[in-house]
Amino acid sequence: MNKAYLLIGGNMSDRLANLEHAKKAIVLHCGNILSQSAIYETEAWGFKDQPAFFNQALCLETSMNASNLLSTLLTIELDLGRTRTIHLGPRTIDIDIIYFNDEIINNANLTVPHASMAERNFVLTPLTEIAPTFIHPVFNKSNSELLSECKDIATVYKKIDI
Ligand code: ADP
Ligand code: MG
Repeated sequence: MNKAYLLIGGNMSDRLANLEHAKKAIVLHCGNILSQSAIYETEAWGFKDQPAFFNQALCLETSMNASNLLSTLLTIELDLGRTRTIHLGPRTIDIDIIYFNDEIINNANLTVPHASMAERNFVLTPLTEIAPTFIHPVFNKSNSELLSECKDIATVYKKIDI
C-alpha cells in the first residue's frame, strides 16, 4: 500500500459540499482516507479578485501508483465540474498530490513533493495538523519546520473542525 498526502480546495459555489463530494469520490475510486485535517479558509492567492478558498489536507492509503492516482484525481475534478480557465483563478475543486510515500517524482505531468507547497501557508497549515513530523524528502525538513520557516504572509483560519 502507498500513502499519499493530498490537499483539496476550492472557492466556488458551495465550498463545503464540493470538499465532501471530492472526498466521497476519492474513497470510491482511490482508497481509504486515514486522516483528515480541519477545513481552513484562506484569502485567494495569486489572482486576487475572487472568493476565499476552503482547503483540507487528507492522508490517503491507496494501491494506485502516483501516475494513476493523478489521472484519477484529475478525472474527479472534471466530474465535479471543474473547468480550467484563469491560471490560479476560481475553481470548484482542486486536488493536489503533496507527497507520495517519500518518493521524488519529476515528469511532465507530475511533480512530487508538490512544487510550491513549502511556500504556501494554506498547504502547510492543514498538512502540519495531520502530519507534523513527516519529512519532506527533498528539503529533509518536517512539515512543522517548513511551516515555521514559511515566508507566506497569508492568514489561514480554522473554519470547521472535523
Ligand atoms: P494548480 O493546482 O497548481 O493550481 P492545476 O490544478 O490546474 O494547477 O494543475 C495543472 C496540472 O498540474 C495538472 O494537470 C497536473 O498534471 C500538474 N501537476 C504537477 N504536479 C502535480 C501534483 N503534485 N498534484 C497535482 N497536479 C500536479
Ligand atoms: Mg491542482
